[in-house]
Amino acid sequence: MSNIKCVDKFGKAEEDIVQEPEARLKQLISNSAVHVDADIPIRRYYRSGQELLRMAITYHEEGSQENAYTLYHKYMVLFLQEISKHPEYSTYPIEIKKRNKKRCMSLLEVAEKLKKQLFERYQAEYEKFVTQQVLVEQELDKRRQQELEERRRLIEEEEARTLGHEDAKSRRLDHEDDEARRSRWQEEDSEEGHRHSPPPPAYHDVVWSTNEDDDNSRCSSAALYPSQSLDLPSAPQQQDFPALPSSDTTTSSRIAVPQLPSRALKPVSGSSSGSNSVPSIDRSSKPTSLLGGGGASLRRVRLPQKMVDQFMLLAATNTARNIETCGVLAGIMRKGELHVTHLLIPKQSGTPDSCTTQHEEQLFAVQDKHDIITLGWIHTHPTQTAFLSSVDLHTHCSYQLMMPEAVAVVCAPKHKETAVFTLTPDHGLNYIAQCKQTGFHPHPAHPPLFVKAAHAVLENNADIEVIDLR
Ligand SMILES: [Zn+2]
Ligand SMILES: [Zn+2]
Repeated sequence: MSNIKCVDKFGKAEEDIVQEPEARLKQLISNSAVHVDADIPIRRYYRSGQELLRMAITYHEEGSQENAYTLYHKYMVLFLQEISKHPEYSTYPIEIKKRNKKRCMSLLEVAEKLKKQLFERYQAEYEKFVTQQVLVEQELDKRRQQELEERRRLIEEEEARTLGHEDAKSRRLDHEDDEARRSRWQEEDSEEGHRHSPPPPAYHDVVWSTNEDDDNSRCSSAALYPSQSLDLPSAPQQQDFPALPSSDTTTSSRIAVPQLPSRALKPVSGSSSGSNSVPSIDRSSKPTSLLGGGGASLRRVRLPQKMVDQFMLLAATNTARNIETCGVLAGIMRKGELHVTHLLIPKQSGTPDSCTTQHEEQLFAVQDKHDIITLGWIHTHPTQTAFLSSVDLHTHCSYQLMMPEAVAVVCAPKHKETAVFTLTPDHGLNYIAQCKQTGFHPHPAHPPLFVKAAHAVLENNADIEVIDLR
């Protein structure tokens, strides 16, 4: 399979514009690669599988076909293929495994139908692109022809100008010759009387020889035509075209053929996806986060400011005793953005610098009941500033490995500070995932392992539902 390349008027490939439908589908499938990490407990995969399906359904309902297909495909790859490689698989409850496999079978049909729709859309976009490409080529040919004609016209004008110049020069010479002849004749006449007939008329279309040795006037046609050695620009040869920018004559440099903007070559995709642009495709085929949207960039996460305020109130008693408090951020996906709608406070045990959740299954039950997905977590630093400790980094890593947009909110009331963090996706996430140490331990500070989450936005008017399970 080959990509169509945009070829500009100099035959240079600019960029891949659109791929053949099969290649685009293949790309989508490679975006759905799933890798099961033996260090992540298997229940987390089953848990995230639920959320994966929730997101896939939302994407499907919103008409985001690529994302829906990618997530359905991920789900099936995970539970029909990859999960059995997990070391805990053999001991995991058989009824849960069966339930997931059954769901996969029912999804096969949905995914196949989506795939067919995507293929048809890609096919239509591709055909449209090819048609546009032909039109653009025709337009370029037309312009090349116009340029050639313009060149020819300018050359003819130049020739005509040069000819006129030569002609005028000839006439000047001609006139001077006549004058000399006249005066010579007059001199002779005065000396020898009227031996000669009157002076000849001054011809303007012939040149009289000025050879002093030859007194007989003689007509020459040589000066009527420009010399063959005149330095005129030669007409361009078709096969040399195009030779712009030219350095030889001013004639050609005056002709500027505007280049067609390459943007014009880009096909407009069908409206079935609700988007007018060709979907951006991550060309790397490395496995992506389980709950990632499949796109190259992170989706925006919207967090209500009220969530932070209410969490601080709920944590106040612990904070006063210098004990950390933690909560889970959950919500929904809408139009490609993630909205934190629920703050869940699980049963927990805290210390001045740590907080451990208990009875996770209660959390999961609440999430299933409300049909919400995990978007991150929040915790207090009663006396310290807002940052992520080494233990925090490892806690957050398991969130972000599943959901690339997951955020860690840290509230530091003593310093009147609240920050929203994320592991750096190009370094911190992998580094922490590889780090096998536990408890508090040092990590190198550079390059940074975490940063403030640029994709997170605190919203003043959004509401939050708080569910305190303590
Ligand atoms: Zn912390
Ligand atoms: Zn570590």
